[in-house]
Amino acid sequence: MTKQKELTLRGIPAAPGIVTGHALLLDRQQYVIPKRSLKEDQISNEIKHFKDALIQTKQEILDIKKRISEELSSEHGQIFSAHLLVIEDSMLIEEVIAKIKKEKLSAEYVFQDVLKKYIKVFSEMEDEYLRERISDINDIGKRILKNLIGAREDALSTLKEKAIVISYDLSPSDTATMHKKNVIGFATDIGSRTSHTAIMAKSLEIPAVVGLETATKNVKSGDTLIVDGTHGVVIVNPAPATLKHYESSRKKLVAFEKHLLEMKDLPCETKDGRKIELMANIELHEEVPSVIAHGAEGIGLYRTEYFYMNRKDLPTEEEQFKAYSVVAKKMKPYNVVIRTLDLGGDKFLSQLEIPQEMNPFMGWRAIRFCLARPDIFKTQMRAILRASSFGKLKMMYPMISGIEELQQANAILEDTKRELRKEGISFDENMQVGAMIEVPSAALTADILAREADFFSIGTNDLIQYSLAVDRVNEKIAYLYEPAHPAILLLIKNIIEAGHKAGIWVGMCGEMAGDIFMTLILLGFGLDEFSTSPIAIPELKKIIRAVTMDQAKEIAQQAITLSTGKDIERFAKRKLKEIVPDLAIEIE
Ligand code: PEP
Ligand code: MG
Repeated sequence: MTKQKELTLRGIPAAPGIVTGHALLLDRQQYVIPKRSLKEDQISNEIKHFKDALIQTKQEILDIKKRISEELSSEHGQIFSAHLLVIEDSMLIEEVIAKIKKEKLSAEYVFQDVLKKYIKVFSEMEDEYLRERISDINDIGKRILKNLIGAREDALSTLKEKAIVISYDLSPSDTATMHKKNVIGFATDIGSRTSHTAIMAKSLEIPAVVGLETATKNVKSGDTLIVDGTHGVVIVNPAPATLKHYESSRKKLVAFEKHLLEMKDLPCETKDGRKIELMANIELHEEVPSVIAHGAEGIGLYRTEYFYMNRKDLPTEEEQFKAYSVVAKKMKPYNVVIRTLDLGGDKFLSQLEIPQEMNPFMGWRAIRFCLARPDIFKTQMRAILRASSFGKLKMMYPMISGIEELQQANAILEDTKRELRKEGISFDENMQVGAMIEVPSAALTADILAREADFFSIGTNDLIQYSLAVDRVNEKIAYLYEPAHPAILLLIKNIIEAGHKAGIWVGMCGEMAGDIFMTLILLGFGLDEFSTSPIAIPELKKIIRAVTMDQAKEIAQQAITLSTGKDIERFAKRKLKEIVPDLAIEIE
């Protein structure tokens, strides 16, 4: 037997963790369908066979939708509504039936043919949202074909042994059918961190790497794989030494996580007693147990867009009220910062007809959209205000670029409060309302904005892309996306100083808040609150507890004298190693 050569593939980390196992390659073209002719008297049976397959597929999707809604959330379940629309598309169904009659060919052959035509039409559409529906059409098409052919074997749901799934793409329904015990990791050729597949992987806690480009070309079923979802690396047929290295990294990681979690109930304060708010970012209210388990002292960013995505209607006030009040109650006595709807950029809503834009990140998004649609904005504000009676809620607006937007949003809020008072509905009259600072114009005029805001939360994901002119989702220019760039540090310093001068607190909820190499510098600038994904919390707490404010200030001051992001990063890493030596395994 010839020895397989080890191959390292690099992609985008989608869900953290290290796992080793055997590959199961899911072929994009799973079914080979021969051209089968029919006799005249077989046609009506064939049409019935096609209709039966549609009914069976619909039932399968409804079952998955129900199960996912129960196990994860109704938002996750809604993902499958788009699939149901494809099954109910009368044009597609009629076209298949007409072709079976006219061409006297088998249902599966005709269906595959019509499906290909649909996919081609969608792939040529200008509307990005419609183009993205191709994966839904593909997914549902595969299911219908499976039922037409009678291939009952569903590679994923009937998986008998633990496997790492390799695929060109994985649809949300594929991901949802992964039996948690048997699919121990996955890797795909395409995809981004914000795809539904990545969201599902994180929810199911399955280590995953996406955007590998050539995974399906380089991996065969049965190959031994290492998936490092933390660093976005997949190793095919690892040499014994590599396996040993990763196994020891995995063990260290698990032990280190355990060690970090032992500190979960200790206060988050510097060595000299400065209290820092360590908060978590969430997208769905079901994530609250994980927030608590990781020792976060509140939620610093509750992204509410997910209520509005993957569904055909808008969320009602009642539905939002229920979710916000559940979070408020569960997190009590801690704070929960709810961010108002931030659609646009790379987040599109299915139910609103928003024209395609040349520069969606700089277009009609976030607060701009909400100010233009006060009906939608007010519904959300009413839900947040009502929920504020049940815990310690705060609210913040995304993408504020100047004082007028803040004033307009606050005027709508006052209007909403008046309505509620008139209706005799109680809410927290003192609920703090803040602004996200994620546009350079807001960062530079933070002193003016501070007059109208109770707090600031720095959104570095957008602040970096706008300040450095680097699209945050374009992997080709990812090397320019530098949180440690001197310009970014200066903007952050300015925001914090302006906030403090006006007597308001300043937090950060962009990914930079969870970047351990930046923690000491941000602390030194005087950041009051760090909000990040739950899994990053224990490590941040360890760093914060290991340093004094004087040390952190000194590090921050030295950092801003350096000229490049790379120099700053190197310097920050060195300092971190000095101050928290046992973090070294993470720094390497
Ligand atoms: C940010 O921009 O840093 C942020 C937290 O918001 P989002 O990632 O949702 O744009
Ligand atoms: Mg943002």
